[in-house]
Amino acid sequence: MKQSVKLIAGNWKMNGLAASLAEVETLKSRLAEEPAACRVALCPPATLIHRLAQTVAHSAIEVGAQDCRAETSGAFTGSVSAAMARDAGATLVILGHSERRQEFRESDALVAAKAVAAVETGLSPIVCVGETLAQRQAGQAVDVVRTQVMQSLPLVLAATPFAVAYEPVWAIGTGLTPTLEQIEEVHRAVRAAMIERLGLPAGWMPILYGGSVKPDNAAEILAVPEVGGALVGGASLIAADFLGIIRRAS
Ligand code: PEP
Repeated sequence: MKQSVKLIAGNWKMNGLAASLAEVETLKSRLAEEPAACRVALCPPATLIHRLAQTVAHSAIEVGAQDCRAETSGAFTGSVSAAMARDAGATLVILGHSERRQEFRESDALVAAKAVAAVETGLSPIVCVGETLAQRQAGQAVDVVRTQVMQSLPLVLAATPFAVAYEPVWAIGTGLTPTLEQIEEVHRAVRAAMIERLGLPAGWMPILYGGSVKPDNAAEILAVPEVGGALVGGASLIAADFLGIIRRAS
């Protein structure tokens, strides 16, 4: 396994108003006092990307969008293009989060098209994959995730930085997590699929774990072989909690 600097990325989902930037100020000043040993990113709602990017200017905190449209512009009311997210200050974009796959019926093919648009715009994608509880209980977790990796990662990723996030759907926001052995098993399968799909060295891009990561379970999860960081939902909203995770990433 190749070791690289871990990425701890916060996904605020549909949470956060201007007042929430106070948490970002706290995070920024705490990391200025004691720099993180990992990469740190925050992915706020689209309305806050610009202001959050201004807040973290001159710090190491990276900014991401939570989605982008595959098309570059046009009659798509309510949508945000990759160029708009980039223009607002994002350098990363979460794609294919299970909440979008489920609520907006996003397919692997659509996620791949969005990843192409992101890369063409200069955004680094974090492509999410993960099985449902029914799929896990049916013994299909590895197969489901492998298929998602093979079909959601466009070949253009062979020549650009990106990350994959393994997020079991049943672990997101539930307080449930897979066993460390289950996390390792799926991460190894994701790694094999990435290498098969994109070859080396792109196959060694980080694989994040996501799903109920908290300060008290972060250390053991981040120590699992092939875990290259974490995608953090609820615990990324409060600076102290997010810092508690960041401090456990070496
Ligand atoms: C997520 O939404 O990507 C996530 C991992 O959420 P939580 O940490 O709240 O489970």
